Amino acid sequence: MKIKSIRAHAMSMPLDKVYWTSRAPWGTYNTILVEVETVSGLIGIGTINKTPLKEIAEITESLAPIIQGMDALAHEAVWDKIFNLTVPHLEKGATEVTRPLFDQNKRVFVMAALAGIDLALWDLKGKALKMPIWRLLGGDQREVPAYASGGYYEEGRSPLAVIDEMAGYVDQGYSAVKLKCGGLSIAGDVERISGVRKAIGNAHLMVDANGAYSLKEAEKAIKAFEPYDIFWFEEPIHWYDSTRALGRLAQTTHVPLASGESEIHAWAVRDQVDLGGIRYVQWDCTRAGGLTEGLRIAAYALAHGVQIAYHHDPQIHGHLMAAQSHGYCVESFPSHARDPFWHQVLKHKPHLEAGKLTLGDEPGFGFEVDWDIVKRWKI
Ligand SMILES: [Mg+2]
Repeated sequence: MKIKSIRAHAMSMPLDKVYWTSRAPWGTYNTILVEVETVSGLIGIGTINKTPLKEIAEITESLAPIIQGMDALAHEAVWDKIFNLTVPHLEKGATEVTRPLFDQNKRVFVMAALAGIDLALWDLKGKALKMPIWRLLGGDQREVPAYASGGYYEEGRSPLAVIDEMAGYVDQGYSAVKLKCGGLSIAGDVERISGVRKAIGNAHLMVDANGAYSLKEAEKAIKAFEPYDIFWFEEPIHWYDSTRALGRLAQTTHVPLASGESEIHAWAVRDQVDLGGIRYVQWDCTRAGGLTEGLRIAAYALAHGVQIAYHHDPQIHGHLMAAQSHGYCVESFPSHARDPFWHQVLKHKPHLEAGKLTLGDEPGFGFEVDWDIVKRWKI
C-alpha cells in the first residue's frame, strides 16, 4: 500500500447569513477535502477545517513528493516525516542537521495539512482492512451522544431568539445544547443564558466564549452565569493567556472549563490539562495533527481524569468517541443553514438524530462526498 499522490480540494460555501461568535463572523463554510491515493488506486479522504484555504491546500499538495512511496498504513512514520519538516532534525545516519523546510510562520498550516493527510491515511486503513474506524479503534458501540451547537449572534436577529433556538433542539431530542457568550455585555449574556435555562429544563447547557475575556472579566462572567447550572465554560480567556489564566480561573469557579480546539499539538493540550485545569479537552483532529495526534491527546486525558469532547466534524470524531470511555459527546450542528457541509456535501454519513450519532459499517470513516457540490464551491 504505497502512497502515490495527494489532491486537496478547497471549498467555500456561502451561508444564509452571518453568524457571529465573540471573535469572528462566519459568513461561509470553509473546508478542504484531502484525497490520498495509493499506487493500487485506493483513495482515502480526510478533511481540514482551517483557513486560509488556498495556502493550506497548496502546502498539503506540496507534501506529496515527500511522502510518496511510503507505506500508507504507517501513519506514525508519515506523521513524523511531515512534523519533522517544522524542526531541525538529524536524518538516520546523517552527520549534518537537516533544517526545517517550513519556517515558523507556516507551522499552523503544516499542522493543518498534516491533519488532512493523516485522516486520509486512517480512511485508507479502514478501506484496506474493510472495517469502520470505530471498530479499528476497538469500539463496541455504534451509537454516541451528540450535543447541539448553535446560539450564535446573528445579524438581523434579536439576541434573545437564542432561547427558542435552544428549546427547539431539546424538542428534537437533544439533552445537551451550547450557545455563544462574550459577544454582549455580561448582563446581556445573562439575559440569554437565563432565558435558555428556563426554556430547556434539565438539559445540559454549555457556553462558549471563543476567547472573549481577560481573566478578570472571565471571573465576573462565570460568577454571573453560575446560577444557571452551566455544564462547561468553553475557551473563556483571550488567546494570549489561554493556559495559566485558565488555571487561575479554574480555582475560582465550580463550573468545569473546556478548551483545546485552538491548539495545534499535544504539548499545548498537555499544558492546558496540567496548568489550565480544564476538565474537557476539545481537540479537533481536522484542524491540526489528525487522528494520530488525537489518540495521543486522548491517552493523556484519560491518564489525568479529564474527559474528551471533540470539536466539530462528527463524521470524524464520532469514531473516536465510540472507542473512548472518557468521551463525553460529539459536537453537532442541527441547523442545516449553519452546517451545509454536513447536510449537503457528505452523503451516506453516520445518522444524526435526536442527540445521537449512529455510526455505520462502511469501511474507513464511512462517508461519501458529493463531488458536484464540491466542484460548485471550489476555490
Ligand atoms: Mg468553541
